[in-house]
Amino acid sequence: EERIPRNFITDIIDDDLNSGRHDHVATRFPPEPNGYLHIGHAKSICLNFGLARDYKGTCNLRFDDTNPEKEDMEYINSIQRDVQWLGFKWTEIRHSSDYFDRLYGYALELIDKGLAYVDELSPDEIREYRGTLKEPGKESPYRNRSVEENRALFEKMKAGEFKEGQVCLRAKIDMASPFICMRDPVIYRVRFAEHAITKDKWCIYPMYDFTHCISDAIEGITHSICTLEFQDNRRLYDWVLDHISIKARPHQYEMSRLNLEGSITSKRKLNLLVKEGIVDGWDDPRLTTISGLRRRGYTPASIREFCRRIGVTKQENVVEMSALESCIRDDLNKNAPRAMAVLHPIKLVIDNYGEDGVTDTSYTISNHPEREDLGTRTITISKELYIDEADFREEANKQYKRLKLGHEVRLRNSYVVQAVSCEKDTEGRVTVVHVLAVPNSVGATIEGHKPKGVIHWVDANNCYRGKVNLYENLFNVPNPGAAEDFLSTVNKNSKIEIENAALEASLKNAKVGQSFQFEREGYFCVDSKNSTEDKPEFNLTVALRETKKV
Ligand code: ATP
Ligand code: MG
Ligand code: MG
Repeated sequence: EERIPRNFITDIIDDDLNSGRHDHVATRFPPEPNGYLHIGHAKSICLNFGLARDYKGTCNLRFDDTNPEKEDMEYINSIQRDVQWLGFKWTEIRHSSDYFDRLYGYALELIDKGLAYVDELSPDEIREYRGTLKEPGKESPYRNRSVEENRALFEKMKAGEFKEGQVCLRAKIDMASPFICMRDPVIYRVRFAEHAITKDKWCIYPMYDFTHCISDAIEGITHSICTLEFQDNRRLYDWVLDHISIKARPHQYEMSRLNLEGSITSKRKLNLLVKEGIVDGWDDPRLTTISGLRRRGYTPASIREFCRRIGVTKQENVVEMSALESCIRDDLNKNAPRAMAVLHPIKLVIDNYGEDGVTDTSYTISNHPEREDLGTRTITISKELYIDEADFREEANKQYKRLKLGHEVRLRNSYVVQAVSCEKDTEGRVTVVHVLAVPNSVGATIEGHKPKGVIHWVDANNCYRGKVNLYENLFNVPNPGAAEDFLSTVNKNSKIEIENAALEASLKNAKVGQSFQFEREGYFCVDSKNSTEDKPEFNLTVALRETKKV
């Protein structure tokens, strides 16, 4: 059974439950529907939904949809799919836009209490007047309008009588506050873009800091978890709830973001990669979006395990990509059936095939060395096989444990063979290797024949010639997000397409959602986008072992 390992948030919750401050736990996961979810969101999902599971509480999926120009139904749908795929169920789906009427009412309440005013400074002026950490801000000349004037102007804002940026509603707090976010923050602005759900009902939209705390209160959220950059904003979160007539009192807690080495976890930047056509959509297997990881062959359990391993703290840090990779490797090592696949095929001809002791035509082999429940399959063998070009050399030193002229190697599940000669093309590349098989050497040790290595192969007369995609890091630098021009850090050779790999015949029937260990090569899954019924295409999920960086 999965449980969130203890962390500072579970400590707070335990304390709240023991002291009677709360008698239940209510959380929410609040994505803005302006892109697809990524691995950073997975951390928040596993925590929020995991707390609801562990404490038998509730967790809402709330779309924080207050920026109409950037948001879209496509994103709303993909987010639901990804949360479910990760293995979580929400208590209810909510939208910040469900509360637009109530939010408007609370804005009027602040106006009536003399705690909000309509400002006519331009966005640039507002920024300038806000001041810096070193100096207090300057009050807007519109700050002291009467309640009546503010009400009338705010109603005109709602009626569409102002242009975008011409006016806004600001909370009247403290222009000298040491917390910049408390210097009369904007709480409503004018936007004429069509909203994905409310369409053109509204042309004023509440800002995040005003919306989030009230939405949490409306939903009865007890523990509202966000990332550390919102630490200062907690003052504003509390200020808003302190000054409106709402009873519920949710509390905000901050944890560190997940920063994953060599990956981008900003929807804005991910969007740019998609729009520029640098990747094949939001689900490109090189992206650490949830949909990209899915298409890459990650399982939901492996991502949940990753989130367990990284934990929940207040320390900012960068997690190595190898930490994510080892989670899927562990999962697939246990669960993925084995298969043989030759990525760069050259022919191997068994010259003495058909002679005494070299007459096998098939083998029934287990699909997994430790998992009988994964069953067996039958592979065929004939006079002509394919092996990988990297598994043969005319000459090589002792470290080379594969096939070389005059030496022996074992064919996986089959004969010991000795290389006797090879054929080359006009460029000098080996195309065919001739071998002699040691008679009766299948599954047996023959006196005088002790090969040091084992290589994999497929039957050249019965195999599936299909496409395999290999991937390398999408970025050339460990922290692409920090680069001035992050698009210039893209590795142009991060996708390697092998059009005509030689795969064991059974792989022709592989279906989307299946993963395999291609022996000696790595873990691969069936691509969900480009595969067809009888022509599956395979994506590299992860190498067999962690490759040391040089
Ligand atoms: P982005 O920059 O990708 O748009 P965001 O924080 O604006 O990120 P939201 O859609 O607002 O994205 O995020 C929804 C929830 O997921 C928030 O509670 C946010 O704190 C959390 N979240 C987003 N990114 C991360 C991350 N890298 N690590 C942990 N939690 C994250
Ligand atoms: Mg956000
Ligand atoms: Mg964002």
